[in-house]
Amino acid sequence: MPIATIIKQAKKYLPHLDEKRLKAAYNFAMKAHEGQKRMDGMPYITHPTEVALILLRLRVDEDTLIACFLHDVIEDTPYTIKDVEQRFGKNVAFLVKGVTKLSKVKYRHDMLSRQIDSLRKFFLHSARDLRIILIKLADRLHNMRTLSHVHKEKQLRIAKETMEIYVPIANLLGVWELKSDLENLCFFYIHPNEYKKLAYLVEQNTPHQEKLLADTTHKVMWRLKKIGIQAEVDARPKSLYSIFRKMVDKGQRFQDINDLLAVRVVVKDRETCYRVLGVIHSLFPPKSSRVKDYIAVPKANGYQSLHTTVFGINGAPTEFQIRTNEMHFEAEYGIASHFFYKELASMPSSTFRKEIKKRSTWVKKVLELQRELKSNFDFLENLKVDIFQDRIFVFTPYGDVVDLPQGAIGIDFAYHIHTNLGDHAVRLRRNGDECSVTTVLKTGDVVEVLTSPHQKLPKREWLDKIKTSLARHRIKEALKQQSSEQCHRAGTNFMKKELHLYGVHEIETLPEEKKKQLVEFFRVKNWHEFLEMVGNGSIPEDKIIENLYTKEEILGPPARVAHPYSLAKSGDRKNEPRLTILATAKSTAYYRVKLFLKVKDRVGLLRDVGIQLANLNVNIHQVNVSDTPMDKTTSCIVMVVEVLEMNQLRNVFNALSSTEDVQDFYLMH
Ligand code: MN
Repeated sequence: MPIATIIKQAKKYLPHLDEKRLKAAYNFAMKAHEGQKRMDGMPYITHPTEVALILLRLRVDEDTLIACFLHDVIEDTPYTIKDVEQRFGKNVAFLVKGVTKLSKVKYRHDMLSRQIDSLRKFFLHSARDLRIILIKLADRLHNMRTLSHVHKEKQLRIAKETMEIYVPIANLLGVWELKSDLENLCFFYIHPNEYKKLAYLVEQNTPHQEKLLADTTHKVMWRLKKIGIQAEVDARPKSLYSIFRKMVDKGQRFQDINDLLAVRVVVKDRETCYRVLGVIHSLFPPKSSRVKDYIAVPKANGYQSLHTTVFGINGAPTEFQIRTNEMHFEAEYGIASHFFYKELASMPSSTFRKEIKKRSTWVKKVLELQRELKSNFDFLENLKVDIFQDRIFVFTPYGDVVDLPQGAIGIDFAYHIHTNLGDHAVRLRRNGDECSVTTVLKTGDVVEVLTSPHQKLPKREWLDKIKTSLARHRIKEALKQQSSEQCHRAGTNFMKKELHLYGVHEIETLPEEKKKQLVEFFRVKNWHEFLEMVGNGSIPEDKIIENLYTKEEILGPPARVAHPYSLAKSGDRKNEPRLTILATAKSTAYYRVKLFLKVKDRVGLLRDVGIQLANLNVNIHQVNVSDTPMDKTTSCIVMVVEVLEMNQLRNVFNALSSTEDVQDFYLMH
């Protein structure tokens, strides 16, 4: 009975394991999947059991083991996440839910590398807990092991998906053991011919190599035993895929690669490592330049071991890696080892314990990773800002995921899919509802870009609102294609709109000296050229108003406003209200600006405006709504809002422009 084996093995490193709980999870999974069969004809329960067995090697905690048993329950059985939570608690439910969510990550074989990149990031982003990723990796490993029972086409797709998404993630987390298993299986399905050829070559070479390795192991073991050193000596052949990669990357022949034998010696402590090194050098002459002490000076990724290459049996160059159990575990399981070592009752050393505490959260762990895994620098560089709060993940109607920075708008999304889509974008359909192309998107949005052939060029004012450099680049490119006359017209339009926002309603009424101010600042010949440059996107939009008016001219004198929190608090004290306000008020200077809005009246419009401003942390001080004379469908809103600075006012404008049914708005003086 496999559950007995699992309990026995888990108890080795989890002395306080709740056997009953683990058993209950196993039985629950068995019952839930009753009658279901895997593609290989085995009862379904064999799959979650294998997944748990794979993660046992990583010494995962009790909750993770339980989640392994239950990982397919939500998706494939009538039981719900509630059932799981009731029986096994919040933590297990969180893990199971996380794993279920990850199965929504959809891969297609014709994806561009940028899309694959987004997919990987999305995967990490939505996992949020290292354990969820580990379960998913183990799940995939077992599915890969049983892939022969699936039809050919699906085999290739799953193998490619594993290679493109799962292997890099296993690599990123430093879970080498899972990584190389996954990789070899992918290799088998993606390049079957090369795999067979290489397997044959390795096999031909194996008897010879195995004899050498066995003799070496025996010799070392015997000597260590004689002087009373306990050690595990292990000689493993190189993985097929790693040989294949070397051949492809370096253009080497098989014979050139396979000349190095590697033997690993694992002992109980640091000191013994050095003693073993001495023993090995007394048995075999070392190659002088090939002794490396990564214990005293660990590698950049934290890897620790003593390495030495010696002339081994029959003079065959042989590499020895000598390390402690702890170092070995870390080398094999990377970041996962830090996560799960804390579950060990017998902590090896106090410093190690402190180290684990430091790395207790997923966020920190990945930040740590960035520093550690230098080899993955590009991927990590991309991850730095991406995994967490400053990225959003938006879906196309086909389910492809696009990752964008926080605050990105529909136009950013459109350009990330295709230049044409961006250039001709007129509206968005976001989660089924139509809205403006400048709408700010959120994680989980499903967005369709509606285009029109009549819109030949991107709009100049988009430059002001987009968040990605890709969109900026594409828009500028397109704008530069215009003739100077078109540029001039676009620039004039842009300036009209821009001045209108700030309460100047005719570009002609802009005084000559103001025009001169701009011409001089941007070092252009004349006003005409200035407008041209604005039109082709060469002049940064945020600098224009800033150079035209002072802060005071636009915002007026600061109105000192007490912090809302302090005011509320002061209300409780009836005796000395005035004194309280003075004592607690924050002396932040707010500016009160009056805005005029023309809107199409509808239910919820004021609420929508209110939400937009609240999101920007902008207080509405006063609102006044009135009908427009002559027109029954539109209303006027005059409102006074409180802003801290010019930038915030700009954000208010952006927010209003993407609010549905706000037709016009400007600053009132
Ligand atoms: Mn599964």
